[in-house]
Amino acid sequence: MKAASIAVAALVAALSSALPVASMATEQPIAIAIHGGAGTITRANLSAEQEQAYKDKLKQALDAGYAVLEKGGNSTDAVIAAIQIMEDSPLFNAGRGAVYTWDGEHELDASIMSGANGNAGAVAGVKTVKSPIQLARTVMDKSVHVMLSGSGAEQFAKQQGLTQVDNDYFDTEQRLQQLNRAKQKIRRSEQPEQQAWRYLDLDYKYGTVGAVALDQQGNLAAGTSTGGMTAKRYGRIGDSPIIGAGTWADNASCAISATGHGEYFIRYHVAADICARVKYQQKTIKAAGDEVIHGVLQQAGGTGGVIILDAQGNVYQPFNTEGMYRGYRKQGEPAQVAIYGD
Ligand code: ASP
Repeated sequence: MKAASIAVAALVAALSSALPVASMATEQPIAIAIHGGAGTITRANLSAEQEQAYKDKLKQALDAGYAVLEKGGNSTDAVIAAIQIMEDSPLFNAGRGAVYTWDGEHELDASIMSGANGNAGAVAGVKTVKSPIQLARTVMDKSVHVMLSGSGAEQFAKQQGLTQVDNDYFDTEQRLQQLNRAKQKIRRSEQPEQQAWRYLDLDYKYGTVGAVALDQQGNLAAGTSTGGMTAKRYGRIGDSPIIGAGTWADNASCAISATGHGEYFIRYHVAADICARVKYQQKTIKAAGDEVIHGVLQQAGGTGGVIILDAQGNVYQPFNTEGMYRGYRKQGEPAQVAIYGD
């Protein structure tokens, strides 16, 4: 009996080592997709130099994430690698370059989810953590909680030895000007509270960043990092750190990161809704994504978009705004980056 099972094991080992590497690779594709925010992004309001700068940074982020997957790394690490490139870039509303709150500070939100086991981590309203996505990951891996906020989250970051910075590390002149313009407009309006959101929804280029990845083990992951919305007040938290709204991953359906007017993404549970349609109604990611982004969300008055990746490596990136900074890289194909809707 024992000898027979040893012989079977030897045969299996011999057969599997004889399998060519290429055929193993095509059985389980790897892929990554990213976004750098959606909004009123048109050719008219982006110079050729700005356009190139965004494309180069998106490509750099895709390549960093893809390199992790290519080496056999896991999808969570790939998501972190891609997002950190964008957090460190002042071009995006995440990490350096994050938007300002009404009080002239930066309050950052981030979340991450693993599609293999439903583990998740999130942080909201942190002011001194250099990489909020790394803190979200540390919450997922090293705490018994899913979501930490404010000073408690910062205390946890310190305990875990994460890099901390002064809040003005996130400052940029362009975001300060945006804040000043937003405040002037809000102050001039008759109903400053309501007007704040209306203004931002129409004119503001969001700029949140996110990534979704599929690794050689067939595991999906999704992550999102943001400074939220310009001139936010009262400790406002958007969808980005909310699991199911701005971020979702489930190996049985898909991985999603969202960007747009967070209040709507929270109310319509956008990321989880799209994946639920894939999981329970056997919809493709294209059908499910279109139904929610161009149907449910748009009818409600919500603007924005998502990046979707399924366990077969299919990518879909729908948005109902004029543009969305986005890109993807799939096995055997060069990286693709795009900005506008046409
Ligand atoms: N969704 C983000 C928020 O509402 C903003 C964005 O996507 O740029 O906080």
